[in-house]
Amino acid sequence: MVRPTSAAENLGTETAFEVLARANKLAAEGRSIINLGIGQPDFSTPDNIVSAGERALAEGRHGYTPGAGIPELREAVARDLERRHGASVDAGSVLVTPGAKPVMFFAALLMGEPGVEIMYPNPGFPIYESVIRFSGATPVPIELHEASGFTFDPDQVLSQINERTRLIILNSPANPTGGVYTRDQVERLVAGLEQWPNVVVLSDEIYSRILYDGREHVSWLNYPQLRDRLIVLDGWSKTYAMTGWRLGYGVFPPDLFPYAERLAINSYSCPNAATQYAAIEALDGPQEAVDIMTTAFDERRVAIVRELNDVPGVSCVNPGGAFYAFPNISETGIDARTLQHRLLEEAGVAVIAGTSFGHLGEGYLRFSYAASLEEIIEGVDRMRTLLANS
Ligand code: PMP
Repeated sequence: MVRPTSAAENLGTETAFEVLARANKLAAEGRSIINLGIGQPDFSTPDNIVSAGERALAEGRHGYTPGAGIPELREAVARDLERRHGASVDAGSVLVTPGAKPVMFFAALLMGEPGVEIMYPNPGFPIYESVIRFSGATPVPIELHEASGFTFDPDQVLSQINERTRLIILNSPANPTGGVYTRDQVERLVAGLEQWPNVVVLSDEIYSRILYDGREHVSWLNYPQLRDRLIVLDGWSKTYAMTGWRLGYGVFPPDLFPYAERLAINSYSCPNAATQYAAIEALDGPQEAVDIMTTAFDERRVAIVRELNDVPGVSCVNPGGAFYAFPNISETGIDARTLQHRLLEEAGVAVIAGTSFGHLGEGYLRFSYAASLEEIIEGVDRMRTLLANS
């Protein structure tokens, strides 16, 4: 029997992909499946973006590109960050990646090693903990609780930092909770971090355009005192309904950029060429489609929160951003993993157990509401029926 390294054995995964595969298999067998599992917009990529990708291929843009992405796209990203956050970003610090995920992988590989601590949100996107463990570093959870809107307590975070802390990962709006942090929280953390000049921050801002009720996005790019140790992750997947095109980016500080670029060249050479041309159109072209999608997510958010709160034993806080509801199911008396399994197998509803996002997710399920209103209502209805008959 062959065995990989112990580091490889430490790799976790994203349950959403397993649930998606199972849901697709059941659907192929003729079962009626409602997919509220995987986190991706159910809209098509806007036509102007698709045309730009097609044009790039027709014009023969099929070769390798520079490892960090084509200069025109890196400049378009810098312009977009200036427009959206008022932040001045050098195009040379933008690493365009195939999907945004490599940015978190690279951050963990560049900062993590045995003896080092990396802090990450729990419950949070599962790949954070996975890549921290793979790097050999010790994952230290930043606890997020429903009572505080699933956002971090700056004093708590600061009290967990010590000489071994190398990297802090934060995510707002957040997957899986929809939590959004406030300017005050960020500023208190930024102020406290001045005591810890060697700690790097990775701010995952992939849902920064999907916010509700007039909330503002607080980008970490707005704090110049941190820019020499800040990595910002963002991309096209969620904002422009481009998950399968695979394109994202990281803004890296000068001390880390060359190493991140080498990791890119060592692992995948460069991002997909045609996708990069489509991505320029996404950023520089009309933005109405983004507003239409966000308005639709907002309607669905209201519906899913209303429906979930109507299920006996279930309560759901209002998510401030992203497209996930994270209802508390503890009063049903069924653990998250069992309820995830039963919902899919018995009721044909794909959702993800809160425990897939860390141990603090016990007692919760994640519903992605990037699905039609009809599917949302039917999905929660099936859950109501299943629980009533349990
Ligand atoms: N960060 C978070 C919080 C996410 O939820 C996701 C996707 N589910 C990503 C990053 C990665 O996005 P991409 O598909 O562009 O790799």
